[in-house]
Amino acid sequence: MEMFLGGRLTVKTGDITREDADAIVNAANSSLLGGGGVDGAIHNAGGREIYNECKHIRDTEYPEGLPAGEAVVTTGGRLPAKYVIHTVGPVWYGGNRNEDELLANAYRNSLKRAGEKKCASLAFPAISTGVYGFPRERAARIVAEVITNYIDSGGVVKKIILVFFGNDDYRVFLESSGLQSP
Ligand code: ADP
Repeated sequence: MEMFLGGRLTVKTGDITREDADAIVNAANSSLLGGGGVDGAIHNAGGREIYNECKHIRDTEYPEGLPAGEAVVTTGGRLPAKYVIHTVGPVWYGGNRNEDELLANAYRNSLKRAGEKKCASLAFPAISTGVYGFPRERAARIVAEVITNYIDSGGVVKKIILVFFGNDDYRVFLESSGLQSP
């Protein structure tokens, strides 16, 4: 585990479904109705209540699906976290389809939703870097910049946690983010 940005950013390995933060972020797909990877893990661990709220959001606010870069909130169900913030990262098509900005928006809008719910702590998985194929090194730089700007501009979420599922992903992040240890 490493800390950055005056202790407000923690970078670690682990299973995000076990994270005891006020909210965790789900790297969802636009259907919001579940999938593989971290999405499947969150729905499995959190239970039906999360699915039911996602379905309601689909039926009311987002009948066409949640666009990439946007974020919505549901209960955390049976998870330790009180809320799940579902966001959709971009699918990587080579870098010329606004992927960088969409990834930044997914992180920014998740932080915004967490702030609206008065969350003091928020844990993120490595959005888009699994099945969606976003290069991990490039994602690291974007994520570090968004979080640095968020904290510098007085964002209300006091503690941000980046949870990497494997040691290799964790190491790549630390080597590529440009963040400096205090
Ligand atoms: P995407 O479709 O956005 O790429 P994935 O779920 O395929 O989403 O992968 C995103 C990241 O989440 C990957 O680095 C994957 O290893 C990681 N991941 C999968 N399961 C978990 C989990 N339980 N906790 C934390 N991270 C996870």
